[in-house]
Amino acid sequence: MKKIFFFDRDGTLIKNIPYLNDSTKVDYFSDTISTLKQLKTLNFEFIIVTNQSGLARGLITLDQMKSIHKKIRADFSMHGLDILDILYAPYGPSSNHPWRKPGTGMLQESFRRYNIDINNSYLVGDNITDIQCANNFGLKSFFLNNNPIASTIYIDKLSEILLHI
Ligand SMILES: [Mg+2]
Repeated sequence: MKKIFFFDRDGTLIKNIPYLNDSTKVDYFSDTISTLKQLKTLNFEFIIVTNQSGLARGLITLDQMKSIHKKIRADFSMHGLDILDILYAPYGPSSNHPWRKPGTGMLQESFRRYNIDINNSYLVGDNITDIQCANNFGLKSFFLNNNPIASTIYIDKLSEILLHI
């Protein structure tokens, strides 16, 4: 069975540019490649699950998105990293389409395509909807907090509020 790391794309694997439609603007975080190399040595494989409502909004063409994914695959390949699959949800927020996170359609489809060990697989994302998606599916997750505007402080006890204000 495959151990999979599911990655959100924008703000997780690459820096978030809203409605990115230019593959030359793909920019990685300083630890993106090194982290995936380490995960590969631990026998994890990688699937990207990305909401791309810019397609529904007419802000991104399918060809532009495909060239972005081609670039990401090529960049990773230079470092010996393969992406098993890239699933995208081209739907807008009002669609309530099950593929759009926090819907679990992209995870369901991944599990249909591959023999995945859910107990040794994870999802990483920078948006609460990524985490909701993982929770809705019963998949363990990591919340990458790289958004300085929406800053949430995690506490274990109510009284810890007093340590952070
Ligand atoms: Mg994101």
